[in-house]
This record gives sequence, C-alpha cells and structure tokens, in this order.
Amino acid sequence: MAEVLVLVEHVDGTPKKVTLELLTLARSLGEPSAVFVGSGYDNAKAQLAEYGAQKVYVAGDAELDSYVVAPKAEVLAQIAGSASPAAILIASSPEGKEVAGRLAVKLDSGVITDAVGVEDGFVAHQSIFGGAFNVKSSVGKGTPIITVRPNSTAPEAAAATPSEEQVSVSLSEAATKAKIVESVSEKKGGRPELTEASIVVSGGRGLGGAEHFELIEKLADSLGAAVGASRAATDAGWYPHTNQVGQTGKTVSPQLYVAVGISGAIQHRAGMQTSKTIVAINKDSEAPIFELVDYGIVGDLFDVVPQLTEEIEKRK
Ligand SMILES: Cc1cc2nc3c(=O)[nH]c(=O)nc-3n(C[C@H](O)[C@H](O)[C@H](O)COP(=O)(O)OP(=O)(O)OC[C@H]3O[C@@H](n4cnc5c(N)ncnc54)[C@H](O)[C@@H]3O)c2cc1C
Repeated sequence: MAEVLVLVEHVDGTPKKVTLELLTLARSLGEPSAVFVGSGYDNAKAQLAEYGAQKVYVAGDAELDSYVVAPKAEVLAQIAGSASPAAILIASSPEGKEVAGRLAVKLDSGVITDAVGVEDGFVAHQSIFGGAFNVKSSVGKGTPIITVRPNSTAPEAAAATPSEEQVSVSLSEAATKAKIVESVSEKKGGRPELTEASIVVSGGRGLGGAEHFELIEKLADSLGAAVGASRAATDAGWYPHTNQVGQTGKTVSPQLYVAVGISGAIQHRAGMQTSKTIVAINKDSEAPIFELVDYGIVGDLFDVVPQLTEEIEKRK
C-alpha cells in the first residue's frame, strides 16, 4: 500500500486532535506514516500507534524546537526524498500551510490548501468563495501535498504497532535564520480551542451587549463547546477578536455549530458553513442563516437559550 506521510502537530509532544484526524484520513488513502519533529516524542508515541500509524519518522533533536516552520519543511523534504510517499498530509493551520508551501517548492510539487476532505487518488475537496462552491482538485505535478482543515474527518482509533525510524537532519543555514527567542503559553480557560472544537456555539449582534455573552458561554459549557462570535459582536468589543468566526476571522468545521443572534452574512458563512450540523436561533424567520441550517429555531434568544441550556443540563 502507498505510504502517506502525516506531519504531527503537537504541543510538547502531545499530538493535537487534527493529527489524529489526519491519521484516520490517511488510513483511507494508503498506509499512514507519522512524521514527528522536535522533542517530546515519548508523549506522542502511544496515540500515534492508537490511531494507526504504521511507521513513525522521528526527528527528535531538541534543537528543532528552537525554530519555526523552515526546519519542518526540510525534515519532510528529506524523508520524502528517500521514502517517495504517495502524498503528504499536513494540518491546515497557519503553520501547516507555511510548511506545505515551503515543502512544495523544495519537492517541486503541487500543493492544495484548506481541503475539507480527500478521496481516492488524492482528490481534494475544497469549499471556496465563502462556501458558495465545492471544488474537487488534484495535484498534477510531483508528490501531492495537501493541507486539511481541522474537523474534516472524525478521528477513529485503529491500533497499530508502528516501526520507528530516527531521522537525523542537518539544517541549512537558511532554515535556522528565524529563531524562537521566547514563547508564552496562551492563557486558556476550560473550553476547547475554537478551530479544533467538535461543537461551537457562536453569538452575534442579536445578543445586544457584552454582558449577554454569558448566555452563550453557559450554553457552550453545557455542551463542552468552544465559543465563537460574529464580527459585529467582536467589532463592538463584546467578545475578543480571537473568537471571531468568518472570512476575516477563524474557519471552523465542527460536528455541530450553533449560531445565536447571527444573521448569516456571507462573510460569516465563509468561516462556518462546512460545519456538519448547523443550528440557528434567530427571531427573524427571514434571516439568511436559515438558508443553510439543519435545524432552525425562530424565537427570541433570551427565551430560547436559557431553556435549551437547562434542558441539556438536565440530560447530563
Ligand atoms: C470584508 C469583510 C469581512 C468580514 N468578515 C467577517 C467575519 O469574518 N465574520 C463575520 O461574522 N462577519 C464578517 N463581516 C461582517 C458581516 O458582513 C456582517 O456584518 C456580520 O457578520 C453581522 O454580524 P451579526 O450576524 O452578528 O449581526 P447582524 O447582521 O446585525 O444580525 C443580527 C441578527 O440577530 C437577530 N436577533 C436580534 N435580536 C435577537 C433576539 N433577541 N433573539 C434572536 N435573534 C435576534 C437578528 O434577527 C439578526 O438576524 C465582514 C464584512 C466585510 C465587509
């Protein structure tokens, strides 16, 4: 079976959920091999095996932690040079997309970014122009390099016993020019990261003020969800810009997206319409958001959201 490389995104060795998704996807396309770059491999080992990696390339030199993206592209290019994989899958994060671009130049290969699925023959599915079109495309030159959005595939365990290959890399001078001088951990609450969350509850202008975002947070917490917001809400200063969903915010593709008091402008849809199930709560039955929902609730959010939260809490 054809080898498919998956670049592991990790925090101190612990793989991010998107990596488990990519391993699951790679299993449907060929034989997944994980590529682990940096220190902390011991923290990753069990999960990479659990999600079906047949092989793990470990470039575990701690020096690699000191740099941003360039060394990852060099490591992948080196492995691809000797392993001749059928394709390379990378998470569609800002870092992943930069690695993919650099790698494509090194391998003289085509690259597809922001795929929401990949089918046999490495045909990538993309949702473009604010989600107005679904496109299928494939790389016509070299090794297909495809970045895949988080939440595009549901991660499924399929235990394997991967072989390990230690990779020693000699970095080029160019790859070591930008060095990390300090890193500060983002302060996190108990909620999942927005782009990785399986459920997202977002609030919009309909909330009428920052103080009412508490309703969204309570609903989100009852579901174990991340909190998002429309640009109208973030521009008004009701919620941080880092939580904005949409064309100029973050792209999310959760299993469930709940839009509360959001009209469904094209720029908002661009960031959420590949969500698997969409629910909207809006008092205006003509709101454009209702064109794309699976379930729509026409009603005042101040009546609906507390009742919904209460009902969910009761069922726990
Ligand atoms: C270049 C550009 C980029 C943009 N990027 C983004 C982006 O990334 N993300 C984004 O979100 N927007 C973006 N926008 C803005 C976008 O066009 C919309 O203005 C914005 O999404 C509207 O936010 P909203 O739906 O919260 O507000 P509104 O459009 O004002 O909608 C509020 C909704 O709340 C409903 N409502 C009001 N009160 C209640 C109530 N009590 N109960 C229930 N429902 C109620 C109303 O019926 C209405 O449908 C961008 C715009 C431009 C020009």
